This record gives sequence, structure tokens and C-alpha cells, in this order.
Amino acid sequence: MHPDSGTWSSTSTGSDVLKKKTLNSVDFKGERALVRVDYNVPMDPGGQIADDTRIRATLPTINHVLDNGGSVIIISHLGRPKGKLVPSLSLAPVSKRLSRLLKLEVQFVSNCIGEEVQKAANELKPGSVLLLENLRFHPGEKQNDPDFSRQLAALADIYIDDAFANAHREHASVIGIPSYLHPAIAGFLMENEIDYFNKALAEPARPFVAMLGGAKTSDKIKTIMSLMEKVDKIIIGGGMAFTFLKTMGYHLGKSMVEEDMLDMAADIMGQARSRGIPFYLPVDCIVADAREEKAKTMVVPVQEIPDDMMGLDIGPATVTLFKQVLKQARTIVWNGPMGVFELSPFSKGTFSMVNTLANCRGLTIIGGGDTDVAVHATGNTDKIDYISTGGGAFIRLLEKGELPGFNALDDV
Ligand code: AMP
Repeated sequence: MHPDSGTWSSTSTGSDVLKKKTLNSVDFKGERALVRVDYNVPMDPGGQIADDTRIRATLPTINHVLDNGGSVIIISHLGRPKGKLVPSLSLAPVSKRLSRLLKLEVQFVSNCIGEEVQKAANELKPGSVLLLENLRFHPGEKQNDPDFSRQLAALADIYIDDAFANAHREHASVIGIPSYLHPAIAGFLMENEIDYFNKALAEPARPFVAMLGGAKTSDKIKTIMSLMEKVDKIIIGGGMAFTFLKTMGYHLGKSMVEEDMLDMAADIMGQARSRGIPFYLPVDCIVADAREEKAKTMVVPVQEIPDDMMGLDIGPATVTLFKQVLKQARTIVWNGPMGVFELSPFSKGTFSMVNTLANCRGLTIIGGGDTDVAVHATGNTDKIDYISTGGGAFIRLLEKGELPGFNALDDV
């Protein structure tokens, strides 16, 4: 799709072409736009924003509405307050940072529904921005409560979804509001994410390699299954590799194994074999007696993990093996770290993979969340072709080729 055409297509399966309205298809003059963003930013212990990448990512959409004569009401979640008011998860600090970035005073209201909010929305002048308090202070957000959605929808004339990282969640602000408020359109960030994803994966240059890691096999097993239809090779690292290794009868000590996923893991490996898709697992790992910065570590083959130790990173032989596979790839999609990279003794595997991708000839796409943090930590962001802002949304898109938040928007 051309970015100026005002539509984009979801064609990851190649069959279900959907066209959604985007910013360029709407006149904002004198209109109030309710913009769902993902300002789930990391906060440092002093309550300051540790990284404002997610806020910056939404500036093009906000500025577009303001430049075209509209006003903006921003809604977001932050953290997991579980439907209650948690002062440390207030979006108030975000309004200050956003004011600085936009170079205008962003008004903040300490609720997202109710009389005070409706009044502030009614009085909003073109060119101004209002940020509402954390949506998840209300249980209605996660429950997709129709009444909560209706109250939010009543605040504005246009709904814009620019929260790609949240588009896999069936929450009120994601799928509820667009059933009451139209036009309901995609913001630039959402448009760009899906567009890039589709372009890269519709006809990928081959060999196409998927690398998955992280903690939970159960979160990603269906994704691996559906990737089998698209990729030429699969690499599995991180905690989830141990579930696959377990199916081979290895003794893995205290390593992370999801016993209820063993049958599915064995099935996936069987399918990969019968389709001729090489399936790479770690051959060695860094083990420790505890998941701690000062833990005693050793490098061992995966067949020789001591009973009282756990695998917390891929080992050097595995790094070499994975590097060889990645170097030959022409398209690489990666989600999930290779080890507990947050702790320095277990970070080498993940950082080696970031450096390998940074120097690859192929197209490199990284799904957000923890993997995104790892890339930022190595300072290699410029050398990766595309870093998605979504973790769960990215995985869902890989798995199903669609997202509830995207489906809920207006067709062209
Ligand atoms: P996920 O959200 O599933 O991508 O998981 C990310 C988390 O997986 C990170 O916080 C890592 O510390 C963790 N992780 C990666 N490798 C391992 C491992 N071998 N054992 C335990 N946790 C791991």
C-alpha cells in the first residue's frame, strides 16, 4: 500500500484482503479525535519515565490531527492496576513528557470517564490535547464492558487506534469503542506496523528463518505451528527450548519445562521433520544453581545438565550454530530472548544474536517486548530493518495474520 492512499491491506495469508480507513481518509477540521495509544512506558523507581520511545512513536498521529484543525483526547493503559486506582500507575507523568515533546500544554484529567472528563472533552479547542487517566483503573476496560466503551465513545467524533502493541487484546478501548464511534480508523503507527509486516512476509526472500525464544512455550506454540506454513527453518532458544529438549528424553535439571506442552512440542517437531523444515535447538547451555547475578555458572552440553542446576542461556556452541543458520538467511523474524538476558551472566546468547542480526545480509524483523529491550541495550537499533512496538500483538499477527484491534476498524 502507498502510505498516502488512505487505506491499507492485511494480506499476510494472501487471501483475506481487508482495507481499513486511515488518517488520510478523514477530515479533522473542528473534530475531536479519541486516540488509543500504548503509553505503557517503563518507569524508574523514582516514578520518572525510563524510556519514552512509545510516546514518541505516537507523535506523527497526534500532530496530523492537530495540523489538520482537530483536537486530540488520548487514552492509554499503564501497567496492571487490576481495575483499581493505583497512584504509582498514574499517567500524570506522561502528560508532562508529552507536553515537552509536542511543545504545547497537554491537559490531564485524573479519570477517563465521568462528568469532569466529559466537560473537559466538550470544552476542548482545535489544536489542543487532553490526556485521560489510566484506562485500567476501571475493571470495564479489560472486561470490554459496553457501558464503559459507550462513555469513552461519547467523548469524541472520531476514533483512532494507534496502539499496535495492544491490538491483540479484546478490551473496551480496543474493540468496544469502535462499535459505538465512527469513523474508527488506524493511526500512522498501526498502519506502518501492519503494512511493514505484510510487505515483508507476503513474499519473503528465502531462506526465511524464524527464531523464537523467551519463557513460555504455551504463549508461542500456536505461532510456531502456523510459522511452519511459511518459513524454511526454525530456531528455538530461551526457556522454551527446554520443553522441546525434554521430548527427546534429556534430563534437564531444574530448567524451565512446561510438562503440559510436551505432546504439542513433540508433534511440532514431528511435523517439521516430515515437512523437511530444519528445527534448531540449543546443543549446550549456561547453567546456574540460581537465577541470580552472582550465581555460580558452567557451560554444559544439553545432555549433561546437573540435577540441581538450570539452563539460563544458550552456550557458545549453540551461538555458533545459530549464527551459521542466520547468516545464510534472507528474511529473519525474531521474538523472545535466548536467555535471562536481564542478568549479565546469562545475557551473552541474546546479545550475540542481536549482533548477528545487525550484521546479516537478509531482512531482519524483531518483535517487541523483551527482544526490543535487548536490541536497545546493545545500541544496535539502526542496524535492524524493523523493530515492532508489539510483543503479544506481533506474535498474534505471526500466528493468525490478523488482530482484533485491526478488525474492529472501519473498512474502506
Ligand atoms: P517472553 O515474555 O515469553 O518472551 O519471555 C521473556 C523472558 O524469558 C525474559 O524475561 C527472560 O528472562 C526469560 N527467559 C529467557 N530464557 C530463559 C531461561 N532459559 N530460563 C528462564 N527464563 C528465561
